[in-house]
Amino acid sequence: MAMHKIPDYPIYIGSLLALQGQRSIKEAGITHILSILRDDVEPRLVADFEHKQIQLDDDEEEDILGVFNECFEFIDEGIAKGGNVLVHCIAGISRSGTICTAYIMRNEKISAPEAIEKIRQSRKIVSPNDSFREQLDIFEKDGFVVDDTKEGYRRWKLKKNAELATAAGSAPVLKDYSSTSEVDGKATELRCKKCRCPLATTNTVIRHEPPTNLPPPNTRAYYEAIKAGPYKTTVGPGMISIIGQSCMHYFLEPIRWMQPELERGELEGKFECPKCKTKVGSYRWQGMKCTCGAWVTPGISLQRGRVDEVRPFALPRA
Ligand SMILES: [Zn+2]
Ligand SMILES: [Zn+2]
Repeated sequence: MAMHKIPDYPIYIGSLLALQGQRSIKEAGITHILSILRDDVEPRLVADFEHKQIQLDDDEEEDILGVFNECFEFIDEGIAKGGNVLVHCIAGISRSGTICTAYIMRNEKISAPEAIEKIRQSRKIVSPNDSFREQLDIFEKDGFVVDDTKEGYRRWKLKKNAELATAAGSAPVLKDYSSTSEVDGKATELRCKKCRCPLATTNTVIRHEPPTNLPPPNTRAYYEAIKAGPYKTTVGPGMISIIGQSCMHYFLEPIRWMQPELERGELEGKFECPKCKTKVGSYRWQGMKCTCGAWVTPGISLQRGRVDEVRPFALPRA
């Protein structure tokens, strides 16, 4: 079948063929059509409907997260007007599947596999491509919200940006830099060992250890978990580092003071402390291997031996 109704929702999901069956989409009461495909849709096929098109390929490089908000808005509007919405792409498998999955995830606060399962009750072939699956997981981790303040989305874009640029042999162009000051003043800082100048807050550290379900940062449970888990390492009396025992790098998001170096357009280089000019780290856009074996892209690193972790409070000695 060219299209299927998603259980419990006035939403249909289908292929490009669904559009060609004008009589059946009218019989299904479709009022709104959302097309997710690169080539322009023939105007006569959508003339009788509210129509929106998102130009996007079924490609691992596409930022489909970035179009969720406008898709949700269009679907919400169709439903609010009492209509039925058709979401389609070419095959009705990956792109439209991703948009409908995300919509259900947001509505019901459920994971991607649960939402996909729901759609598969009627359309069995729905299957977002691997990159879209990864983006749906990020969407869940970011609390079903897409914007640049969300860590998962920001880092995913940074990684894609670095991968695409370096594949073409150039340095990426950055839009955002993090600051070293923290809103609530509670974050642990990384400071220059020599002059104590703050270089980063630990919420800009890109963790690369095996994933664990860590409690919120700066809580006692957090420190106990990292003490027990693969994060365990001792950096001073009663102190536990946020990087692994064998890690010699703190990998970071780009930070404001790094801007002059990172905007030289080089593929790799070194960082000096902005205050005392000691060498504190290095970067390599293609990625860098930590001493623990993990590969991180982009590799923007402060060397463990050149910085101190300074905490708002420390755990009592065990
Ligand atoms: Zn490491
Ligand atoms: Zn310094």
